[in-house]
Amino acid sequence: MKNRILLLFLLCLIKPCNAEQVRKPHCDKHEVVPTYDDSPLVAAILAADDVFEETYVPQPDLFAPRKAVIVTCMDYRLNDFLSTVTPGTYILRNAGGRLTEDWIRSLVILWKLLEVQEIVLIQHTDCGMQKFTDKVMKDLLEGSLGQAKMVHNCNVTLEPVQDPNVCKWKNTSKCCGKEACIDYDCIDWLTIKHGLFKSVLEDVKLIRKHPLIPSDIAIYGFIFDVITGDLIPVPKAIKAGRAKPLYCKK
Ligand SMILES: [Zn+2]
Repeated sequence: MKNRILLLFLLCLIKPCNAEQVRKPHCDKHEVVPTYDDSPLVAAILAADDVFEETYVPQPDLFAPRKAVIVTCMDYRLNDFLSTVTPGTYILRNAGGRLTEDWIRSLVILWKLLEVQEIVLIQHTDCGMQKFTDKVMKDLLEGSLGQAKMVHNCNVTLEPVQDPNVCKWKNTSKCCGKEACIDYDCIDWLTIKHGLFKSVLEDVKLIRKHPLIPSDIAIYGFIFDVITGDLIPVPKAIKAGRAKPLYCKK
């Protein structure tokens, strides 16, 4: 027993035995983290809702007035446009307005159970998904789970294709990085690599050819210009998304 303790002691001299010493360093300390009780955001939301509910008119019908769904990006600059131009529709939003399997789940529910007949896909200029690549995200995540900051912005035009290398991101802390792949199943961040016209067309085609989306559902593709407010039709996507009567074999 004595020999074992001696051996452990000698090993500690070679290698630090304190777990704190061998553990990877923690992320930079954030002195203040948001909490429900002191979050200005929560307070503002609750206060705004107090005003909102005074004139709130409930809409008890589950079925939206317009038998349509807007599928679009989560970018906040679309909020006013959506509430003004597309009231009474269902709205699906994610990063980039890119088609994902979960959107198919929602789209099928919308046409099958909620009477939706038209799908309007809207992506937009200056989208964040044009401003990084899978490799950039992978490197940032491996470097740190802290937030990254954009240190150089890319152009905001509709075309030409964005060069994501011009846009630069940097981690704000160096610790707690994580692999972005789980068992080699890497996340496809669905960035917009080849310009908006191509990504809108690509996503409309993916919806169109999905076996659970019937041919009599019309799909339209647009680009919203966040600078001018213009909604630009994408002719190739509109052509690809045309509805056809649904014929079933008997
Ligand atoms: Zn976007």
